[in-house]
Amino acid sequence: MNLLEIKNLSFNYPGSTLSKRVLNDISFNVKKGEFVSILGPNGSGKTTLLKILAKLLPPARGLLSLNGIDYSKFKLKDFFKIVSYVPQKFYSIFPYTVFEIVLMGRTPYFGAYGFESDQDIYKVNTVLKLLELEELAHKSINEISGGELQKVIIARALVQDTEILLLDEPSTHLDLKHQVAIFNHLKKINTAGKTIISVSHDINLSALYSDRIIFLKEGSILEDGSISEVFTEEIIRKTFDVSSKIIWGNENSLPQIFLNPFRASE
Ligand code: ADP
Repeated sequence: MNLLEIKNLSFNYPGSTLSKRVLNDISFNVKKGEFVSILGPNGSGKTTLLKILAKLLPPARGLLSLNGIDYSKFKLKDFFKIVSYVPQKFYSIFPYTVFEIVLMGRTPYFGAYGFESDQDIYKVNTVLKLLELEELAHKSINEISGGELQKVIIARALVQDTEILLLDEPSTHLDLKHQVAIFNHLKKINTAGKTIISVSHDINLSALYSDRIIFLKEGSILEDGSISEVFTEEIIRKTFDVSSKIIWGNENSLPQIFLNPFRASE
């Protein structure tokens, strides 16, 4: 059975003056254990799609189901035990500590009085250690770097212990070492069964770590398939209007893209 089913999804922001819908008739399914990357130019609707999958925006039209159950049937608390979300931007006026922010990921599991259990604390400490954030645990999130904050928000989603992890641009603020460390960890939990859907600008990272790519353009799906099916120069050109060269065959036989900025895109 499909874990996620999205059928004929369309969306527009209220009051939008755009001539086209932000998302237009999107349909795809995701199976348990897939690592899917959603790629596309700026403004193609990637973040909006992810927010709808995260139940943060309601679809204007279409059907979404999770484990065969319609999205509208879920209470938020139950939904957030299955789906976690790492937003692209995170702000907090209140100077919460790193520990407190990560602990918020355990909210769906808090008891009737809203208190955390020893197990919640244990989970938070384990993930802080895993992502090398222990030393920052008691620092305010307003006093850490953008890359550290990105890891904190990823940690908050990891402690949520969900079947599906949605990530919006998880590597933007990370240096190369931390990109590789985070993506290696994502791949590890994906291999252990977690389903991952990641919106990214980093085509090369996506090619290395995901099983499948969905290319979005102007709110519609342009291509959807495995890396070997859709990672082609022609599809990159159609999606991004750039000319590129794709080389297959790093040690894992995975492709990497090189831009060809001096050749006009035909
Ligand atoms: P992407 O993630 O691919 O860059 P977005 O989903 O962020 O695209 O945006 C898709 C379109 O929706 C863009 O035209 C953007 O201007 C518009 N948009 C995004 N957020 C809002 C909003 N809160 N209100 C109105 N329009 C929005």
